Amino acid sequence: MDDKLLLMIPGPTPVPEEIRLSIAKPPISHRSQVFSDLFSEVTEGLRWLHQTQADVYILTASGTGAMEAGIVNVLSPGDRVLCGVNGKFGQRWADMADAFGLHCERIESPWGVPYATEDFQAKLESDPEKTIKAIILTHCETSTGVLNDIQPIARLAQVHGEALVIVDGVTSVGAIPVLMDEWGLDIVVSGSQKAYMLPPGLGFVAVSQRALGACERSKLPKYYWSFLLAARDLSKGFTPFTPSINLIYGLQSALQKMQKEGLESLFHRHRVLAAALQSGIKALGLSLVATPESAASPSVTAVYYPEGIDGDHLRHFLIKEFNIAIADGQDAWKNKIFRIGHMGFVQKRDIITTLAALESSLSALGYQSIMRGCSIEAALQEMKG
Ligand SMILES: *Cc1c(COP(=O)(O)O)cnc(C)c1O
Repeated sequence: MDDKLLLMIPGPTPVPEEIRLSIAKPPISHRSQVFSDLFSEVTEGLRWLHQTQADVYILTASGTGAMEAGIVNVLSPGDRVLCGVNGKFGQRWADMADAFGLHCERIESPWGVPYATEDFQAKLESDPEKTIKAIILTHCETSTGVLNDIQPIARLAQVHGEALVIVDGVTSVGAIPVLMDEWGLDIVVSGSQKAYMLPPGLGFVAVSQRALGACERSKLPKYYWSFLLAARDLSKGFTPFTPSINLIYGLQSALQKMQKEGLESLFHRHRVLAAALQSGIKALGLSLVATPESAASPSVTAVYYPEGIDGDHLRHFLIKEFNIAIADGQDAWKNKIFRIGHMGFVQKRDIITTLAALESSLSALGYQSIMRGCSIEAALQEMKG
């Protein structure tokens, strides 16, 4: 019954059958008119999804490849950058900045706690020489289920005037509004296996005009990731190198599905499902990692394992008994928290099923304080709106 696996992890996420079938088409030449038409259509679709007039490049990579592209194209060795770190993915940005020889200052908050805008403000306002070249942020911190409020930080960067705003939107684009142009974001990266309803393999990078200007001055080495090459070919309807043609067929199908639903409904669906899940979790007496709870993301929810419950047992029980996959914590947070992904191809049924299975698994493993059905009742209340 492998095809009944309910994938409730924060990526890869479930892929609808119509999208899987579109990926099964025979490959075509990536230098043909047919491809160019397909590529132009998905590029327009990506602009719509990113709510931007900017270029959105499609890279053959996972999300981390898109992150690396975002760094090497606009910065130079020794550049001073501020990096927001409050979880695994912020840490990844900072490690990457170090790896490329940038002068990286980590602006830290504890795991589970959103960025403090004042910390960025203090640094930006005491930089009259404009030495800060970029602010590097993670919108949704997937390791803790925290949605960072990046808009006020982006506004500060605009006032600063020099710092580019580079954002990891991997678990936000397609699930949560990311108003690239309105907020003044310069680079937004994402990946196909999160809210796009696609398998892993494509990275996306939206690049502002200002960032393209920085590409001309950037001195970090790059070749495969070059935005300037991507920009040159995008205007002709092509990619510099052989793209994952079949995943781009899938992307066409995914964007059509999203457009049929409409952006507002799509965001609304994610908000309601997250509220329902989070309410059900709390009804079980469990605690969200996000502090305050209002910072809990609409795309992924992280929860502390209750006292006396072994994390591995719980997750294996959910797989064995119900064929539902949830994720463990990462790094030092392994066996301390679990994470449930609810982005992309998810509906109310998935949330109700997951809560019911979680409630009964906890109960079977000896967790006491459960009034049977309480999580379902709480979730249904939220779903009523
Ligand atoms: C999944 C994810 C990534 C990308 O990871 P890959 O394994 O390279 O696709 C980056 N940032 C965040 C916040 C993520 O959730």
